[in-house]
Amino acid sequence: TFDVLIVGGGPAGAAAAVYAARKGVKTGVVAERFGGQVLDTLGIENFISVKQTEGPKMAAALEEHVKAYEVDIMNLQRAEQLVPADADGLITVKLASGAALRSRSVVVATGARWREMNVPGEREYRGRGVAYCPHCDGPLFKGKRVAVIGGGNSGVEAAIDLAGIVAHVTLIEFDGKLRADEVLQRKLRSLPNVRVILSAQTTEVHGESGKVNALSYKDRSSGDQHRIELEGVFVQIGLLPNTDWLRGSVALSGRGEIEVDARGATSLPGVFAAGDATTTPYKQIVIAMGEGSKAALSAFDHLIRSSAP
Ligand code: FAD
Repeated sequence: TFDVLIVGGGPAGAAAAVYAARKGVKTGVVAERFGGQVLDTLGIENFISVKQTEGPKMAAALEEHVKAYEVDIMNLQRAEQLVPADADGLITVKLASGAALRSRSVVVATGARWREMNVPGEREYRGRGVAYCPHCDGPLFKGKRVAVIGGGNSGVEAAIDLAGIVAHVTLIEFDGKLRADEVLQRKLRSLPNVRVILSAQTTEVHGESGKVNALSYKDRSSGDQHRIELEGVFVQIGLLPNTDWLRGSVALSGRGEIEVDARGATSLPGVFAAGDATTTPYKQIVIAMGEGSKAALSAFDHLIRSSAP
């Protein structure tokens, strides 16, 4: 039996593990892939106090920091179900392996994944011109030409954000109209270096010498193919929280994000959540770490307030 069981081994889960272990309580981490999205990241330049680092390096540092404490790390294990606290106040997390872990509190930090376009070139040029996070990678395209795929709020926000950094932005929307809030659309239309293309389906990302150099799309009304020369493609067609396994147990938002309050508490007593899997805005490493630390402190607070010693 654990005092604090953390599900997820990304920045949020690692931070929660360090904070929980430092309270001297029995701490475990279950992770499908320790390191999380950080493992898929090339350069990181916004982890405050570290000017520049690489994802795999940070992932190794996360693991090293957690291993400096007495934490039971169960890597390559997928959680499949969460059962609310029983009469003894114990929460159960069932794993795909068939094992069931019991804990007095749980911190869920299962993160999220970007929805991909699934077109040729997207995977190949990921991190080499294909990007998903304007806050992370926008400055790398200073003075260059980029496309933003997706005309929802995040796509239009990204286009407005990038227009202030890059030379030119082409926003590509599949539908016949943008879905973003009117105030954002108005702001977008006021920008001189943004072009909006509607009813357009991205068909391929092209590159040369390992770098993106163009994008092809199909005009959905005429069927014509077009090619745009550019250096970057920001894909903004959705961030999918890894929370399917919680459906029916923990309250989720319409987008499937775990609803948390300012302390990281979820709808279930003793169950806390942090990072990209939650409703907390702005999905970033520093934010996930802060939220993970907060959730662990809230779990500890729960432990000292519950009756069992
Ligand atoms: P994640 O990192 O997603 O970790 C989730 C963890 O949960 C993983 O260990 C995963 O294996 C595990 N997990 C998921 N489901 C289960 C399950 N059912 N059972 C058990 N374990 C499970 N942010 C920045 O601040 N700066 C950047 O430069 C930056 N660049 C990025 C570049 C890319 C390509 C990507 C994809 C993201 C980038 N981000 C960046 C965003 C940042 O990586 C995330 O905000 C951060 O990793 C979120 O941390 P997290 O711990 O909430 O989730």
